[in-house]
Amino acid sequence: MKYKSTRSKTPLIYSSEAILKGIAEDGGLYVPLQLPTLDSSLEDLSSLSYKELAYYIMSRFLTDFDEKELMDCINYAYNEKFDTPLIAPLIEKSGVHFLELYHGPTLAFKDMALSILPHLLKTSMKKQNIHQEVIILTATSGDTGKAALEGFANVEGTKIMVFFPQDGVSNIQKLQMVTQEGSNTFVSAIEGNFDDAQNAVKSIFNDKQLAEKLADKGYILSSANSINIGRLIPQVVYYFYGYLTLLKEAKISKDENINVVVPTGNFGNILAAFYAKKMGLPIGKLICASNENNILYDFIKTGVYDRRRALHLTTSPSMDILISSNLERLLYEISNCNENLVQNLMHRLSTEGIYEIPDSMRQRLKDFHGDYATEAEVFEAIRQLFVTEGYIMDTHTAVAYSVYQKYKKQTGDTAPTIIASTASPFKFGKDVSKAIGLDIADLDDFELLEKLADAAKVKLPAAVIELKTKPILHDSLAKKHEIKTVVENFLGGR
Ligand SMILES: *Cc1c(COP(=O)(O)O)cnc(C)c1O
Repeated sequence: MKYKSTRSKTPLIYSSEAILKGIAEDGGLYVPLQLPTLDSSLEDLSSLSYKELAYYIMSRFLTDFDEKELMDCINYAYNEKFDTPLIAPLIEKSGVHFLELYHGPTLAFKDMALSILPHLLKTSMKKQNIHQEVIILTATSGDTGKAALEGFANVEGTKIMVFFPQDGVSNIQKLQMVTQEGSNTFVSAIEGNFDDAQNAVKSIFNDKQLAEKLADKGYILSSANSINIGRLIPQVVYYFYGYLTLLKEAKISKDENINVVVPTGNFGNILAAFYAKKMGLPIGKLICASNENNILYDFIKTGVYDRRRALHLTTSPSMDILISSNLERLLYEISNCNENLVQNLMHRLSTEGIYEIPDSMRQRLKDFHGDYATEAEVFEAIRQLFVTEGYIMDTHTAVAYSVYQKYKKQTGDTAPTIIASTASPFKFGKDVSKAIGLDIADLDDFELLEKLADAAKVKLPAAVIELKTKPILHDSLAKKHEIKTVVENFLGGR
């Protein structure tokens, strides 16, 4: 299996090279030359454990990894760090199936990919004979930074530095980061908001002089962000796993179509579902759920992508995004692999902030349904499901649930449906508590989470309880212009 850029026909490279490079030289994203197909029946696959299935699927993408290399990566990733051996349990409530992707160490679905990416990266370096140390540098608004820290902590041959905006993350998110263990980890607050942190990190990536200096010391910089093909491939696995769980439990019949609903930001998660469909998984509609930043809803409805609008800050912050990077891979697919066209559209997006796709491409969007939920609808969805089922979901998942309710009403489509459940309700506990009407005035963060757990009659996840007593290991606060010195100092002792 070879990989190429969405923006040019060559060069063709192996997966280990694509994982190391992250982004292609022409600015495009790496895509497989052809999506693999299955050589076993779904019934045969339904007896596999999560890890076995992960091997079955991922080995078809990462053909330059040998069996031991890939199995090692999978074993390092999907182990006791997850609080259930199922890894991604499927829970039926109110006639819909919630695929809970938040049982990893940081309580959000980013763990599904970021717990394996560091091992894929490390193995890729070995395969490509690279002996430098990889420095992962990330600015985070919350979920990604912690998931990356947890994934890279103590992974040999890597160091990870995460910068978060002093005023831009929740208390729990901050605690998760500043208590991070691992001798190769560095965490610092940055004065300002997310854009400030992001710009500071970008300035490091653009600093050629610094890159040379670091290269001399044996370091290469990388970002582990969500456009890396090594983050996308592991996400294909759980859509198969969800479907196969339904099959095993006889909730669907052989080859029956299901719908999938995904709360969407950068378009990575739903693109993985699209890949699964193209590989032969019987998926009918791919329902793309947005929050009030409904740029994808407009795009699916009109074929026009227009980023010239204000960003709304919502209670589902991981979906507060105006440029969904992974959409480029979908454009590539629905244009019949037309690199020039993709290049053109992306150029327009960066210069004019808007592009329109031709009719032929719009036709091929018909497997997608797009809609969005307002903040009021999100809160109402959380309340309603709690009242009827006693089940609590987080604000991102609630966007999907709300959109699904509207979809069912509008279309009458009652096909079995999986909702990608992307975060633990305890990660966004304050808003969830408000939505279900708990009185949380005067409670501190932990008290309110305990009250929420009581109300839902579930146990608080261990990852939350631990935070209470974990020592603070990172207390630095940097000004924007100091970030270069901070990076050099951390890497200096060598
Ligand atoms: C990142 C994230 C999303 C959005 O996923 P994309 O792959 O960027 O579309 C949704 N929910 C949560 C909780 C997330 O952390």
